[in-house]
Amino acid sequence: MAILKYPKGFYRHLNAKQCWKLIHNPDSTWARVLKGLYFPHSSFLQASSSPRRSSWIWQSLLAGRDVIKEGYRHNIGDDTQSLIWFDPWIPSIKGFRVFRPPHFPLQVNLVADLIDHDLLQWKTNIIDSIFDPIIATAIKAIPVAPLGNKDSIVWRFDHSGNYSVKSGYRFLSRIRHDQSFGGVNNSNLISREVWLKTWNLPIQPKFKVFLWKALLNALPVKSTLLRRGIPINPSCPNCAAEEETIEHTLFWCNDARAKWFVSANTYKPNPVGFGSFSLWWSAILNEFCEDQLGLCFIAISCWIIWKERNLTVFDHIGPNPIVAAKRISKSFFEVSSSATRGDPITSSLHDFTVSSVWSPPPVGTLKLNSDVA
Ligand SMILES: [Zn+2]
Repeated sequence: MAILKYPKGFYRHLNAKQCWKLIHNPDSTWARVLKGLYFPHSSFLQASSSPRRSSWIWQSLLAGRDVIKEGYRHNIGDDTQSLIWFDPWIPSIKGFRVFRPPHFPLQVNLVADLIDHDLLQWKTNIIDSIFDPIIATAIKAIPVAPLGNKDSIVWRFDHSGNYSVKSGYRFLSRIRHDQSFGGVNNSNLISREVWLKTWNLPIQPKFKVFLWKALLNALPVKSTLLRRGIPINPSCPNCAAEEETIEHTLFWCNDARAKWFVSANTYKPNPVGFGSFSLWWSAILNEFCEDQLGLCFIAISCWIIWKERNLTVFDHIGPNPIVAAKRISKSFFEVSSSATRGDPITSSLHDFTVSSVWSPPPVGTLKLNSDVA
């Protein structure tokens, strides 16, 4: 009897195909059931990847969604609900996304806000005032859809705009091939600007190497090892509740959440609209472009959380968020100590590290920490 043997990762693309159907048939019975269970207040593409209870069906769909997220784009219609600063919608720029400049007012959020719906043309004065000339030109080159045209989601690696298992498999195979040759070629998926900003951070090389691996999806988390053909249980070593991905390990595992929560870092990851690590880091670089201190702290936090994960996996040392928070502050202080005296980062690092770290309450009293999110 002939046995069908599918190539590695093939099932991910079958899952991605189901995701594509879910996105394009939101009124189908199964789509409405899943929405009620897992993403009642958002779209499938924006749904959190870490619901407290999730079935293997949902986990399979999330794995397929990761494929879709790497290659989908919004086609803008006249009634567009696409988000300027989150959705991929500009065809001629890398990644199709534009990131919100720091301190930019939140009133202009929808692509629809950039369109004069009476004249069916772009509001060029607003676009020119918000975006740099290259982005502005790219936006104004997009044809404004005639009345009655709705937004659509298209797959960029097929001329038809539709996702197919074949095109998805070819796309990810190309990435895997690039990674197998050192991952350098995969950097074409990460903009040159992101690489330069990361390598220019005033932190030690070990932090940058870690970020580089995370950007290339090259950290040896269990899901990655499984995809590389290593027979391994992909469950998270801390919670065992979900597949261990880079994003789960660094942000969404309960252990990681606790570390972000108790650390002195004022930045707390938000699962709403969170894509891959590379998309997140690109956005963070932009959001903190005038705050090198904040960027360093975030990078070090990720590195410490990864190191703590390795202690659990290899040395069987249980996670301890308080210890991790202290390690983050200590590493941060070491960065400040190695900086040149007089560097503005140095003094602010010291103040921030010493004054903001969590401390236990006096004996006989209770201390209640709460999350404003
Ligand atoms: Zn976990």
